[in-house]
Amino acid sequence: MYSCYSCGKTYSILELRWRCDCGGFLTLLEETTFSRETFANRGYSIWRYRESYQLPPHAPSISLGEGWTPIVTERIEGTEVRFKLDYLMPSGSFKDRGASVLVSLCKVLGIEELVEDSSGNAGASMAAYCAVAGIKCRIFAPAYTPEGKLIQTRLYGAEVVKVPGTRQDTNDAVLKAATTIYYGSHLWNPFFVQGHMSAAFELWEQLRGELPHSIMVPLGSGGYLEGIYRGFRTLQLSGLVRTIPRLIGVQAHNCRPLYEAYFLGLDVGAPVETKPTLAEGIAVSRPPRASAVLEAVRRSGGTILSVSEDSIRTAHALLLRHGFYTEPTSATALAGWLQMPVEERENSIIFLTGHGLKESEKIAQIHGLKV
Ligand SMILES: [Zn+2]
Repeated sequence: MYSCYSCGKTYSILELRWRCDCGGFLTLLEETTFSRETFANRGYSIWRYRESYQLPPHAPSISLGEGWTPIVTERIEGTEVRFKLDYLMPSGSFKDRGASVLVSLCKVLGIEELVEDSSGNAGASMAAYCAVAGIKCRIFAPAYTPEGKLIQTRLYGAEVVKVPGTRQDTNDAVLKAATTIYYGSHLWNPFFVQGHMSAAFELWEQLRGELPHSIMVPLGSGGYLEGIYRGFRTLQLSGLVRTIPRLIGVQAHNCRPLYEAYFLGLDVGAPVETKPTLAEGIAVSRPPRASAVLEAVRRSGGTILSVSEDSIRTAHALLLRHGFYTEPTSATALAGWLQMPVEERENSIIFLTGHGLKESEKIAQIHGLKV
């Protein structure tokens, strides 16, 4: 059952719906629990925990083997820190957790075609899973998006619709298309968020229940952090963990509506002026699920940090020196960690979210490498 976060109205998950009639965003109403016995003998992917996503009972698993990414420990500025390598996913980003679950929902609902708006990882990920599912996928992106960012999406067989004007114009165009075609939105759809719960379950299993004190993630729309919180909440309700790690979202100074909202005590994203940032993947000026994200941060005892362009560049160089080839966006989480007082850095896990091979030219430019 879906429930509207704003007005509480409920809807069946069998409806082709991505938001409430009031305009509010949806979440899954029931909180689930699970027991170790359910998945003890299953393979290692996000589908190990399939009951937790609350898909309709006969939903297939549209899967490319996503999940169970490695955890690697490094010593940085004298402190040990662990990295969760979520950039090592089938389409090269953590978004595969959400896309795998959302496209599985689409398949069981008999959806043959969907629209989505994204110029980056989410579009590529949705295109990959739609290819597996045999669903026609149309991705809307602003006309100014460099063609290089869309190659992967196109090659998976998705149709790319370039919309003249601003990001808002692209948003308007996809909403218009969504009146007749299903909107498989990574920003709005609660099943995309459900897929991200798997990251919490994996950490718990991989670390044998010894959870870190803090978890650092790049923060754009916040769906990842919201999903991780929901995963830990399931573990807590199942009596498997006592406390939830502090969830720390890191935004770029140049686009930080959730940071502003957090410190102003708002429960919706704050209106902000945005400037270009190296962390393009988290440049979301109006995150639709902001209230759920802010609640997750507060309930976990976490916080939201904001980092400068210089510190993103420095953190990215540091990642490279440790052998991690990620998108610049991933470096925001490390930049946030480096900004914390040394005594708070202990026992942290940093999520690295997107592969660098998608943006090699940009990375070369950032670090002054002539190619
Ligand atoms: Zn509503």
